[in-house]
Amino acid sequence: SDARLSDYERLSVLGHGNGGTVYKARHRRSAQPVALKLFADGDTSAAREAEILMLAADAPHVVRLHAVIPSSAAGAGAGEAPAALALELMPGGSLSGLLRRLGRPMGERPIAAVARQALLGLAALHALRVVHRDLKPSNLLVGAGGEVKIADFGAGKVLRRRLDPCASYVGTAAYMSPERFDPEAYSGDYDPYAADVWSLGVAILELYRGHFPLLPEGQRPDWAALMCAICFGEAPEPPAAASEEFRDFVARCLEKKAGRRASVAELLEHPFVAERDAAGAQHALAALVAEAEQRDQ
Ligand code: ADP
Ligand code: MG
Repeated sequence: SDARLSDYERLSVLGHGNGGTVYKARHRRSAQPVALKLFADGDTSAAREAEILMLAADAPHVVRLHAVIPSSAAGAGAGEAPAALALELMPGGSLSGLLRRLGRPMGERPIAAVARQALLGLAALHALRVVHRDLKPSNLLVGAGGEVKIADFGAGKVLRRRLDPCASYVGTAAYMSPERFDPEAYSGDYDPYAADVWSLGVAILELYRGHFPLLPEGQRPDWAALMCAICFGEAPEPPAAASEEFRDFVARCLEKKAGRRASVAELLEHPFVAERDAAGAQHALAALVAEAEQRDQ
């Protein structure tokens, strides 16, 4: 009773990534809409992604996994990498797509909804000893009601020991924290979970500025320029016009010394993501999703 690719009708392309394509699709029998993530032959990140999504099946703000589709009928039990994953369809798409479709930066209110829900997702993942290692706007998905879920665990890792070093260059260099570029300079102070907090800080600053915030707008993000900016530059910050809460929140995420960076638990207590405003902030994000949809038409 394994799922097969032929169980799904592909309707359109939702996104391209590292070697794979994500389709909007429909399960033929149940008519359930899904996002069908197809992997290139032998892509080992497929198995890792499936493993983490199963582990995090009850985690809030993590995209749901509906089915794992093996590459051959025999492959399922034979340790073969899956050919595809059927994921919960997030109708608002990714935050990078939303930014592009809106054609302008996002305000603090919807960004607070992103920050709060991404933090809740990270808290659940970290409690399972899962580090994402590739948090960025294209890996954060939005629902029509302004729900935010973390996706794309192709670079994720389940830590077996508490301080398993995971400084390897997986993920996107652009969102990598200083200690991941140069773990030796930070030894003794290495906290793999803190790297996800840095990436979240870069991502939400990108939503506010409307472009990748660590390099001047339009500069090609080549590896050397990025390493220079991340390791030797000042941490970027929101402009003076931003609220004190937002500026402080970003500064707590983009603390260059991992040991001084705020933890996920600390950030969840930060006034920028205060619980009393959560519903209103989510509403503001839902309004942006609706606006982007209208523009598409
Ligand atoms: P990759 O590992 O190739 O980066 P992702 O899982 O990040 O793959 O998916 C690539 C893109 O496809 C995302 O940035 C997003 O635009 C779209 N996408 C992925 N999963 C979904 C989903 N569940 N619902 C809606 N869009 C999705
Ligand atoms: Mg991705």
